[in-house]
Amino acid sequence: MTHVHSTATRKFTSETRPFLICGEWRSTPVSQAIPCIDPATGNNIATVCGASRDDATAAIEAARRSFDERSWQDKTPAEKAKILWKVADLIEEHADVLAELEVLDGGKLFDAAKNGEVPMAAESFRYYAGWTTKLEGKTSRISSAGNAPFHCYTEYEPVGVVGMILPWNGPLVMAAWKLAPALAAGCSCVVKPAEQTCLSTLYLGELLMLAGVPAGVVNIVPGSGSVVGAAISESPLVDKISFTGSTATGKQLLEAAKGNLKKLTLELGGKSPAIVLADCDMDKTVEGVAAGIFSGAGQVCVAGSRLYVERPIYDEFVQKLVQHTNNIQVGEGFDEANEMGPLISETHLQSVLGFIQEAEKSGACVAAGGTRIKRDGFFMRPTVLVDVDDKMLIATEEVFGPVLVVQAFDDLEDVISRANASDYGLAASVWTSNVGKAHQIIRQIRAGISWVNCHGLPDMAMPFGGFKQSGWGREAGLEGLLQYCEMRSVLVNIAH
Ligand code: NAD
Repeated sequence: MTHVHSTATRKFTSETRPFLICGEWRSTPVSQAIPCIDPATGNNIATVCGASRDDATAAIEAARRSFDERSWQDKTPAEKAKILWKVADLIEEHADVLAELEVLDGGKLFDAAKNGEVPMAAESFRYYAGWTTKLEGKTSRISSAGNAPFHCYTEYEPVGVVGMILPWNGPLVMAAWKLAPALAAGCSCVVKPAEQTCLSTLYLGELLMLAGVPAGVVNIVPGSGSVVGAAISESPLVDKISFTGSTATGKQLLEAAKGNLKKLTLELGGKSPAIVLADCDMDKTVEGVAAGIFSGAGQVCVAGSRLYVERPIYDEFVQKLVQHTNNIQVGEGFDEANEMGPLISETHLQSVLGFIQEAEKSGACVAAGGTRIKRDGFFMRPTVLVDVDDKMLIATEEVFGPVLVVQAFDDLEDVISRANASDYGLAASVWTSNVGKAHQIIRQIRAGISWVNCHGLPDMAMPFGGFKQSGWGREAGLEGLLQYCEMRSVLVNIAH
């Protein structure tokens, strides 16, 4: 059955979307318009006003003013909690529109967006609403003053103005994962969505205003990385950058941020291993491993793109995996029969297909998929590659598409060292019925998040981020909140 999208979505996409600075929705000349392309058709479905460098500066100044005037940070913890909770309620009330925008603009499956990403965005605001009233320092007894009477304590402060630079692969959730903890900490924000996927972030902006976030506390400026992204990351008025995107851009931000030594949270790329032991439940594992790479058409930072299968079950496992992969129904996200949607753009599709061609030239074999689907939009078949060597580009580089490389392994020591032989260290999964072995393996894998007998499940309670070149810092959990805080230590001589 094909879902028909709502009147509210039609209205939202039929008007050129302005951007948000200091509580006002501002437009720019048509020459700065950003087209929104539906990846399922290649058609232009909406237009967004693109911000210039001056607009970005105005957004940064508005955030700075609101922070320095303390319009948000001085609200009581309970007042902040109420507003964040209201944002969560509004996200749920507007779930259909938000999910439809994720499908139209980001190529998501409607069901995944409505029942996965939208609730996750709402939960992010609710989770951090709870933390506003529990963000506490501690008291300490000090030794350096001898027996002189002192009262010493620590307290958390918001880090200041935060620039948030988002990727295209999870626009709503990425915006929520950054905005909710930053607002809970008392920060003011400038958000730059990815050029490809601005719509749901702009819609979220409307909900934030409706919930009562004061003007200037959240500003949203769509635009290119080289103009708007650079303006935010270079500005001396911005105290911190929270970035999700590629490792290459993350490295550029280090350079741009050094002027005023901005704090940086970097959620970057991955090439995550899935390790399948011979004692796994084979059918469930085939399904789980396939979901771990093909969900979101592989455009997921934690995608399990390197699969290692223990030699005794390798042939049977690959045969079942290929069969399962060939049965995955690919198509546009509003048809609920479809299990995998399009890639984000023609350029990205060509890049993914290029990786496959290069792998074939180096000796890898396509066991499933490997080709574009000839129809409108940016669709390809989910792909499984075998006869892959550890050193091939396809086994080392992040492809960010529905491409799985499968290799056999003989012993645990071997597979652990191969799994770790990567510049990335974002995620990993182990598939086995032996709990002890699972823990032994995970302890030795250099990854920020690991799963046993599942892959890719996020939760607000579980800190999320990478080892090695997969990033700095964590999102979600208390750790995610503390990324938006500074700590002050106070030593009071109470003999005076
Ligand atoms: P990207 O690095 O190309 O772009 C990300 C954002 O950075 C965009 O908004 C872009 O406009 C902006 N940008 C680009 N150049 C910039 C510059 N010089 N200065 C400031 N901003 C700049 O990444 P992408 O292609 O949008 O996203 C895919 C990447 O994101 C993948 O590598 C994926 O692994 C990663 N990702 C990581 C996580 C995580 O949590 N670790 C989550 C999702 C995506």
